[in-house]
Amino acid sequence: MTTVLTPASPLTAADRCDRCGAQAYLRVVLASGGELLFCAHHGRKFEPELKKIATEIHDESGRLTATPATAGEDER
Ligand SMILES: [Zn+2]
Repeated sequence: MTTVLTPASPLTAADRCDRCGAQAYLRVVLASGGELLFCAHHGRKFEPELKKIATEIHDESGRLTATPATAGEDER
């Protein structure tokens, strides 16, 4: 078994938002080399700031709308 860490590896239910502990749907790769995980809510909230410091933002929040069961906190 070989474990390869790739930046593009999908987020799982074990990945949690750094802010609130909800399931993470965004992975932010920082220019400094670190990574941050955010739920869809906080990903949107911090997106303007994240874009200044991130080299990559993997947004998987689209999976939320693809799921019949919703959390019901998605505002438009
Ligand atoms: Zn959050």
